[in-house]
Amino acid sequence: MSQNQIESLRAAPLPAFQHIVDGRQVSASDGGTMAVVSPIDGSVLTTCARGTVADTDAAITAARRAFDDGRWSDLPPAARKKTLLKWAELIEANALEIAVLGVRENGTEIGMALKAEPLSAAATIRYYAEAIDKLHGEIAATDPAFLGLVHREPVGVVGAIVPWNFPLMIGAWKFGPALAAGCTMVLKPAETASLTLLRVAELALEAGLPPGVFNVVTGEGAVVGARIADSMDVDVLVFTGSGGTGRRLLEAAARSNLKRVYLELGGKSPNIVFADAPDLDEAAKVAAHGIFRNSGQVCIAGSRILVERSIHAAFVEKLAAHAAAIKVGDPLDTATQAGAVNSERQLLQNLAFVDEARALGRNVIGGTRILQETGGFYMSPAIVADAKPEDRLFREEVFGPVVAVTAFDTEAEAVALANDTSYGLAAAVWTTNLSRAHRMVRKIRAGIVHVNTYGGSDLTVPLGGVKQSGNGHDKSLHAFDKFLDLKTAWVKL
Ligand code: ADP
Repeated sequence: MSQNQIESLRAAPLPAFQHIVDGRQVSASDGGTMAVVSPIDGSVLTTCARGTVADTDAAITAARRAFDDGRWSDLPPAARKKTLLKWAELIEANALEIAVLGVRENGTEIGMALKAEPLSAAATIRYYAEAIDKLHGEIAATDPAFLGLVHREPVGVVGAIVPWNFPLMIGAWKFGPALAAGCTMVLKPAETASLTLLRVAELALEAGLPPGVFNVVTGEGAVVGARIADSMDVDVLVFTGSGGTGRRLLEAAARSNLKRVYLELGGKSPNIVFADAPDLDEAAKVAAHGIFRNSGQVCIAGSRILVERSIHAAFVEKLAAHAAAIKVGDPLDTATQAGAVNSERQLLQNLAFVDEARALGRNVIGGTRILQETGGFYMSPAIVADAKPEDRLFREEVFGPVVAVTAFDTEAEAVALANDTSYGLAAAVWTTNLSRAHRMVRKIRAGIVHVNTYGGSDLTVPLGGVKQSGNGHDKSLHAFDKFLDLKTAWVKL
């Protein structure tokens, strides 16, 4: 990845993007488009289709037909694997082009985007493709007069609604296992991160995925997303996004066909640093990256740092130094460590949290709008060094580079503060006390508890939330459970 290559991709003019439905590019039924605004400089990059209810229905019909006629689900798993591996190869071959396209649209720093987006999506597709011909059903231990066979069958048409922070990585966590399992899909990208998913859907066709198996419809959540959720023909709905939307999806499922709904709804994840952390400077550095990379737009971001009081001042000083050293700026500059905030709306929301902390008299370090002259959406990392449990910042997800730091005195208090949240996605504990580390893993209510690190877990382990962070799991072989149903054959011998 050289800066020159990136610059020529940055300058490449973009076509108007269309939906991918039933193996073809199609425009919105009423010709509507949405402007694609670059958070790098606020310019309009191109347009993509503004999906209508009719467009969404057409995609669902195509996915239903493709599932029901068995063009994909009835293939031998090894044949699906072959196509999926080809797809992964094509994504990898075009990785830099796809990464730059994504960064132009969503502002993630290119170093992270390349790894976390096309390369991660390719790895995810490959992981599930490789697994699919190694899964087996069961023969139950029944009365020998009978044979109990437990088949694993694809569930059918999957609706996927994904967010803008890592559209390909999170998208692939859904379409990787779903398509490998033999399901078909209608995917709706977020309004501000659609292009890479459309590009990858094109490559799927090039790899030989049959028409109608993987459809991407762009547009507004309240139109396209809501129609997917209301559909009688979508069997399973997988979602990553906000709690408010998650609630609407559950209501829509209840109103329509009781489709299964799997939600990943973010968090307010505690990163707990004890005085006996192995290396306080390393803890501060990883904590800074755990909240400030991709401008805090990470569902597992360690957005609450709980620090043992005896080291609070020293830790905050180190954290502030690491935060100040993070180079914020043009996400297509390879030296940048935190790019642009995805949209102006998100930037203003982030700054409102910081202003509120200042108004409460909290000790706020950083957290101002910067580089406004570029026309883009940038802010410096913000540390609120003495956040209180009653502060909005301690309770609500910002989804920006704003961290709440709170002191504690005892292990019991650390657990109580960590669990004093409606969320339960991720957490971390920094300690050299092995027993304490394991006690904390047990007591913290979260889908993942890191020990002496933050983030970076690979595809082999599940990611899912408890409490109001959601249900179900992305990643690992467990992700198949959402897309493969159990069916019993009970045979009298
Ligand atoms: P965020 O606030 O992080 O953008 P959202 O939950 O609003 O989170 O967005 C996540 C995804 O959900 C996006 O693809 C968005 O378009 C979609 N979405 C938003 N509102 C709805 C809705 N009412 N029904 C279905 N999908 C929606």
